[in-house]
Amino acid sequence: MDRVRTDYCVVGAGFAGLAATRRLQDRGQTVTLLEARDRVGGRAWNRAAEDGTVVSVGGTWLGKRQDRMFELCREYGMEVYPQYDTGDTLMRLGGTNRRYQGIPKIDILSLLSLGLAFWQLDRIVKRMPVQEPWNISGARDLDAQTLGTFIASRWNIPTDTARKLITTTMTTLFCVDPDEVSLLGSCVLARGNGKFEYYVDNTITETHLVDGGVPELAVRMAAKIGASLRLSSPVRRIKQTATGVEISADNLAVDARRVIVATPPFLASRIEYDPMLPPMHGQLLRRLLSGAAIRGITIYDEPFWRADGLSGMTVAPDLPVPVALDQSPRSLNVGILSSYMFGPQAIKGAMMDPAERRDVWLRALATRYGPKALTPRAHLETDWAAEEWSLGGMIAHFAPGVLTNYGRALYEPAGRIHFAGSEHAAEMHGLMEGAVRSGEKAADEVVSAA
Ligand SMILES: Cc1cc2nc3c(=O)[nH]c(=O)nc-3n(C[C@H](O)[C@H](O)[C@H](O)COP(=O)(O)OP(=O)(O)OC[C@H]3O[C@@H](n4cnc5c(N)ncnc54)[C@H](O)[C@@H]3O)c2cc1C
Repeated sequence: MDRVRTDYCVVGAGFAGLAATRRLQDRGQTVTLLEARDRVGGRAWNRAAEDGTVVSVGGTWLGKRQDRMFELCREYGMEVYPQYDTGDTLMRLGGTNRRYQGIPKIDILSLLSLGLAFWQLDRIVKRMPVQEPWNISGARDLDAQTLGTFIASRWNIPTDTARKLITTTMTTLFCVDPDEVSLLGSCVLARGNGKFEYYVDNTITETHLVDGGVPELAVRMAAKIGASLRLSSPVRRIKQTATGVEISADNLAVDARRVIVATPPFLASRIEYDPMLPPMHGQLLRRLLSGAAIRGITIYDEPFWRADGLSGMTVAPDLPVPVALDQSPRSLNVGILSSYMFGPQAIKGAMMDPAERRDVWLRALATRYGPKALTPRAHLETDWAAEEWSLGGMIAHFAPGVLTNYGRALYEPAGRIHFAGSEHAAEMHGLMEGAVRSGEKAADEVVSAA
């Protein structure tokens, strides 16, 4: 087995690990970056569909306040372009398609109920200190409740329609049934990003796509990192000694002063630590689980829905593929719909035969976009929970009690082991921006700790 000695070691070449490595190199430090997969980018991934179109199937959109991501795009020569949002949004409720611009076409009481629900959630969000989200009055009570019980209460959300829409939104955000998510924990996602509306209103976030796909940014960052990156090197063991750390990957051992573990939390928990991690860190990592998401990329000769006056954004809470939106490239050489199965529906989908799932998928699109949706030139599905080095959807969630009991370990190192990643980001948690910021912060910490 090869053995190398570097100042620092970084585990995981998603945006957090890449940003940490880059920051350390810029500061004149030697680094070894160990990545389990044979590619970089982690939850950001460009895949080729059967017609040859290359498309982003994980983290894709950049919105307001993703400042570091926009800066990195500029620095590495990646151009961004605005999300197409001309035309009607379509909502399918009770078997009827309703088109609208701006305010959803639902009854006034349901609209008010939606506003009331987000107002209540955002009141909790507002009270949360960014660095210590567990530190608010009533934290234990809020952490003992689930997002599901909040949604189910007629006091919080008076109408069935509003409850259904919020359930779909929250299942989309957390990739699990809201019954599995702590009410307090759910607010961590919105804290540091402003409000929950960051995730539910494209017009507020000024969403952009990256020409060539944001995963290409990861590839360019990796190219600059050079030979310090070792692909296909899953880390199995981290040993702390009095003077440093020994990191063992399958075919390489690294001796370093400190290590930054920039993997999804549950995958970090599967590394063997000697000595074991402090109890709070160990418990937290084992409890931060990610739900399920299957992303469908459906490619047509052109974005035909635009000619029909649709923006491409559709919501259909009763269908197995409840959310879809336009992800067409800037060149418009093809039209692309991006759509999802989330949480319990994604688990059902994962158990279907692939041909059956494709059929269910396309039929769910056809109910909103018409029969043209049934005949794409290519259709590509990515089951993120089945990805060995992700084991889940977009982001890990906090189950009841986790944030108040173990949350402190989110932002603290365990001796010479530091943690980074989207879930460890105090601000822009859950987004690529959060991953980058957490990686840069961890890099600064290890250098000042040495
Ligand atoms: C379907 C989907 C859609 C999304 N959409 C958006 C979006 O539009 N906008 C947005 O901002 N965010 C989005 N996200 C979230 C965003 O992609 C993530 O927050 C971000 O990419 C996470 O980066 P990370 O570096 O923290 O972790 P990851 O990207 O998960 O990187 C961790 C890396 O660690 C590696 N690894 C794991 N275990 C080991 C080990 N033992 N040894 C070595 N390496 C290991 C993994 O292979 C991986 O490369 C989406 C995510 C998904 C899945």
